[in-house]
Amino acid sequence: MHELALVRGILEAVLEQAETYQIKKIEKVKIVVGEMTSAMPEALQFAFEVLSRDTSAREAVLEIENRPVKLICRDCHLVFTPEGLKYSCPQCISSRTDILEGRELFVEYFEGE
Ligand SMILES: [Zn+2]
Repeated sequence: MHELALVRGILEAVLEQAETYQIKKIEKVKIVVGEMTSAMPEALQFAFEVLSRDTSAREAVLEIENRPVKLICRDCHLVFTPEGLKYSCPQCISSRTDILEGRELFVEYFEGE
């Protein structure tokens, strides 16, 4: 399960920061997950529950914000969200597009005391 590895990385970063700021109990972790990571929210929740069990984040709520894929056309500079797997520009039909958003996965913030 690829979510397990993703959450492990996230949790390690959060716990490390929590230690730096002497936060003993983490209450909420908010993450941003791009659509292109193909991480399933349920699987992320499950992985978080399992991995945080013996940590100061065991009672934390995991909030997930899904970010859709956003592309920019290199020819007409239109920014658009592709439909399904059609990554060509809907305006000029160019297939020369770059990914702006959708690949990210990061902790936006976490709370605790
Ligand atoms: Zn275009």
